[in-house]
Amino acid sequence: MSEFKILDKGAKYAHVSVGSLKNFEGKQFIKEATGATSCEISFGTLPSGAAVPFFHSHKANEENYIILSGAGRFQVNDEVFDIAEGSVVRVSPGCDRNIKCTSAEPMTYICIQAKDGSLEQYTATDAEITERKSLL
Ligand code: ZN
Repeated sequence: MSEFKILDKGAKYAHVSVGSLKNFEGKQFIKEATGATSCEISFGTLPSGAAVPFFHSHKANEENYIILSGAGRFQVNDEVFDIAEGSVVRVSPGCDRNIKCTSAEPMTYICIQAKDGSLEQYTATDAEITERKSLL
C-alpha cells in the first residue's frame, strides 16, 4: 500500500504526493491531506486480472475515473465496456460500479468524487487572469 507524503503546505495550498505512479500500489485517498472541500480524489491501482473486490454506489456524488496506465473493463449496473490509458469515465450517483484490470501491466487510475450537479461555474466563467511577478 502506497502512502502519500505532505510536501508543502501554506495558508492557501497543500501539496501532497503518492510518489511514482509506476510503483504505486493499492488505494490512497487524499482529501484529508490536502484539505479539499469540493471533492475527494483517490489514486488506485489494480494488478493484472484483479477487480475491486466489491461493487459500490454513491448516494449524492458522481465519480470521474481517469485511467493513467494499463487497460481493463468497466461495469456500470449491467453495462460493461473497455477502458484504457487516457479513458475518462463519469458515473452518476445511484448505480453500481466496478473496474477490472485486464492488461498484463497494472492499471493505475485516479477517481475524483464530487457532489452531482454542484459545478456551477468553471474555466472561463470562474477564472480570471491576474497580474503577478513570476518567481518560478
Ligand atoms: Zn466510489
